[in-house]
Amino acid sequence: MNPGEFQDLSGIRDERDRIRVAEGYEALRSCRVCPRHCGVNRLEGETGTCRTGFFARLSAANLHFGEEPCLTGTRGSGTVFFAYCNLACDYCQNFPLSAYGYGREVTPLELKDVFLSLQSRGAHNINLVTPSHVVPQIVHGLVLARQEGLSLPVVYNSNGYEAPSMIALLDGLVDVYLPDMKYSDDRMALRYSKAPSYAAINREAVRLMAQQVGPLQLDGEGLAKKGLLIRHLLLPEGISGFSETARFIRESLGSATAISLMAQYFPAHRASRGGALSRRLSLQEYEDGLDTLFSEGLLEGYVQEYGEDGDDSSASTEQETLCQEERIFTTF
Ligand code: SF4
Repeated sequence: MNPGEFQDLSGIRDERDRIRVAEGYEALRSCRVCPRHCGVNRLEGETGTCRTGFFARLSAANLHFGEEPCLTGTRGSGTVFFAYCNLACDYCQNFPLSAYGYGREVTPLELKDVFLSLQSRGAHNINLVTPSHVVPQIVHGLVLARQEGLSLPVVYNSNGYEAPSMIALLDGLVDVYLPDMKYSDDRMALRYSKAPSYAAINREAVRLMAQQVGPLQLDGEGLAKKGLLIRHLLLPEGISGFSETARFIRESLGSATAISLMAQYFPAHRASRGGALSRRLSLQEYEDGLDTLFSEGLLEGYVQEYGEDGDDSSASTEQETLCQEERIFTTF
């Protein structure tokens, strides 16, 4: 495939959309699509930390029933998993995709068809999983899909390590932001995800997302139609620093901010080799997370149920298993 032929934007009818797609591709020229600012020319196929050149890599696209209830609904969330990642988490539960790049390259036109196909299969939304390093390609695909009738809410389901300029490009294209707030301590972020300055970058990104879409809004059927839903995965030994993150959310975003507190941690990928992350979350650590939610007055959203004796089947290297992982959430 020749990248040049996909940069012809003459078919995009709306001028604002033409400009945003062009700006996205320009960010690939000396890549600054994410905070790593690798500076490689992805228009020429060069790759940086995320190992993704001009074309996004698609790992899977399917109806997913393991997301929060407001995303899963009755017909499933239309998840679109992208391969590779701009983080390198020791414990990544999707490591066959994020670390090994399981998937195939797709053009913006193919991406458009994937979105429209999920809509025709009845998905409640388009759920972009691990999108941060391929925002320009996603923007192009979404603009084309909107032109051809895509009307579902679009969910940006990310690790929260984002460039503000890319959040700006997504304004008006993304309806629901679903970012992680993984760490409040940069030393932990560097050690376990190789992400410099994660906390400040992540907080700024989440602030921008909140400004764009506001609090989470559900429709009459309880489905997310717009807004911010923050995910936090509790890690053993307090490594994720949830208390500080919760305080930040209350003080900077307000106590009406919706949170999804996740307890599904298990030692996948490099974490299984030993160290502080080589065990599951204890019941005490889980209860401490709940106490933090209550003490900060953060009572909007979801809490994942604690399963001490759950098996580790989701650690399988089978990509299909990873993309269909079931999670059980309780609504406040
Ligand atoms: S998107 Fe990839 S190449 Fe671009 S700055 Fe981030 S890690 Fe580097």
